[in-house]
Amino acid sequence: MSHPSDAEQKLLQLLSGKWVTAALAAAAELGIADALAPAPLTAAQLAQRLGCDATALARLLRVLCGEGLLEVDVEGCYRITPVGAQLRSGQLRELARFVGAPFMWTPWAELADALRDTQRSAFERAHGHPLFAHLDQSPHDAAVYHQAVDAFTRRQARALCNAFDFSGLERVVDVGGGLGTVLTELTQRFPQLACVLYDRPSVIEQARAHWARTDPSARIETDSGDFFERVPAPADAYIVKHVLHNWDDEHATRILRVCREALRPGGHVLIVESLLLPGNVRDATALLDLEMLVLCGAGHERSKPQFRRLLHDAGLSLVATRPLAGGARLLIAAPRVARD
Ligand code: SAH
Repeated sequence: MSHPSDAEQKLLQLLSGKWVTAALAAAAELGIADALAPAPLTAAQLAQRLGCDATALARLLRVLCGEGLLEVDVEGCYRITPVGAQLRSGQLRELARFVGAPFMWTPWAELADALRDTQRSAFERAHGHPLFAHLDQSPHDAAVYHQAVDAFTRRQARALCNAFDFSGLERVVDVGGGLGTVLTELTQRFPQLACVLYDRPSVIEQARAHWARTDPSARIETDSGDFFERVPAPADAYIVKHVLHNWDDEHATRILRVCREALRPGGHVLIVESLLLPGNVRDATALLDLEMLVLCGAGHERSKPQFRRLLHDAGLSLVATRPLAGGARLLIAAPRVARD
């Protein structure tokens, strides 16, 4: 019998990514990491707590052990590893639930067709309407989406507060700010700052409900509307974080132009996105770019030169870039001064 070649092994390993991701997402959905955090449990005890079949659950647990999320001892007790502990609520559980949620899983099956014909995104092919229209119609899916974005953003919020000097500012608006993850951090760090969360009306409602649960004393103003039409004005800084990658250049430019027109003199637009790298490297931003293709169709990640062009077309110029956590970068932009 011939041995599979390294190339074959590599390909088979890559293909198994789907099974591993599905296993992690199921673990997150069931709450396995939360249940095991206080003390190790047997498969039978865990199954009882989670309302699962013990034999079936043991098959999932075996995979989670193999991937380094759990360890099992001779008594058959499962304990969580540091990697597995990341699947707890308030860590990355919400992100893992989102990755495996049915409404996010089905569009990926449409990827090849969406590459043949870009008229409709993979998400639209699967659901019949674009992402944000879908979220307006499905409060359950909207909660899964916004909690995942919140989990993703929590890792970057503190770094963002350190990467720019907010101390002298009066008013900051987070444009398409989701559940207000960045502003929650910003108001704690800079009590003098008036912070405004701006998003679609349904998201502002969810943000209020979210704060009622997590931070009832949150000191954040809210405003709702369409960022292609207007943003709350004026402000010393507009934060535009992981928003531009949802849109093609024409729409992204419009958002930036609306922000530029509302800026106070001396103000800045603070863009947070990942940057596409040149060459053949394994680049997490390239994967995020595919996620944008699936979810938003024309939305895409950008390289630094692409951002410079976008900013130029919106009457802005790039002042500086700073690295943040998780591969994201802060791009600090200011109104372009006409040169003669
Ligand atoms: N900035 C947040 C959320 C990014 S997700 C973060 O990084 O954590 C993109 C956000 O854009 C969503 O919250 C979505 O509701 C918002 N959005 C999409 N279309 C919008 C529109 N037309 N007007 C205002 N907000 C919009």
